[in-house]
Amino acid sequence: MSAASIVLNADLHCHSTVSDGLLAPAEVVRRAHTNGVDLLALTDHDELGGVAEARATADELGLRFVDGVEVSISWGDDQTVHIVALGVDPMNAELSAGLHQIRSGRDSRAGRMSVELDRAGIHGAYEGALKYAGNPALISRSHFARFIVEKGYARDVKSVFDHWLAKGKPGYVSHAWASLEDALRWIVGAGGTAVIAHPGRYRLSKAERLELFGAFKDLGGRGIEVQSGSHGPDDVREFATIARNFGFLASRASDFHGPGESWIDLGKMPQLPDDLTPVWSVLI
Ligand code: AMP
Ligand code: MN
Ligand code: MN
Ligand code: MN
Repeated sequence: MSAASIVLNADLHCHSTVSDGLLAPAEVVRRAHTNGVDLLALTDHDELGGVAEARATADELGLRFVDGVEVSISWGDDQTVHIVALGVDPMNAELSAGLHQIRSGRDSRAGRMSVELDRAGIHGAYEGALKYAGNPALISRSHFARFIVEKGYARDVKSVFDHWLAKGKPGYVSHAWASLEDALRWIVGAGGTAVIAHPGRYRLSKAERLELFGAFKDLGGRGIEVQSGSHGPDDVREFATIARNFGFLASRASDFHGPGESWIDLGKMPQLPDDLTPVWSVLI
């Protein structure tokens, strides 16, 4: 099926307060509707707890909704990769247990980050980040970033990552997330479609990228984000080519986290190149 037959304003990647977004699930859906989104997936990090509220709101508004989750995995030499799972059964026991296992690592990682930040002169970061996260199982670098901005060490969240939290910076600690194999088994087992999130963000060589895409495909992965809030035009061209070469379905994804904290608002990305098969052709 070509994209031309089903051009939608689809946005298949965004976050709510159930992970590191700024808006509650219902507010995310209302904003998507206001922005003209026709098909929305909520994809909180390692957590499906927001999809019931989001789906209920989407039903009220007549917006098509896909249950989703963004799964954190570790790949190769301490590289974190995100896999977006679309159309999963949120009640699936093995997926739920897998996500629970991933979340249970977040608190101890946050403790390690806090120790490193303390050494670098930023004190009280664990408590400060927890205040933003609300729940130790959901604590993420975004919550640390908000605390660091609050304390005046950086002017915005992006510069916190550049100076403190990105790999190689003082507050970064390595962490073992799920394996690609486990994540794909859970997602496929829960009836979902697995999509590589924001491939342009990973610091991998060309050869390493091809290795990741090949392994992902061999394990049952089906899609790749071509239009992403974190992709520029060169990334879109590159990953459109990858989608063609690997036979991947293409996704369109804002990765919206909240007003003022995101590269792009819900549903505001350009359309996919029209020869690609959109991932929603298998979702709706
Ligand atoms: P974590 O899962 O705790 O490693 O946090 C990852 C989250 O941090 C991502 O999902 C983004 O929301 C945020 N993030 C990562 N890199 C950046 C960046 N350069 N600028 C702003 N936010 C970022
Ligand atoms: Mn995030
Ligand atoms: Mn991500
Ligand atoms: Mn995301």
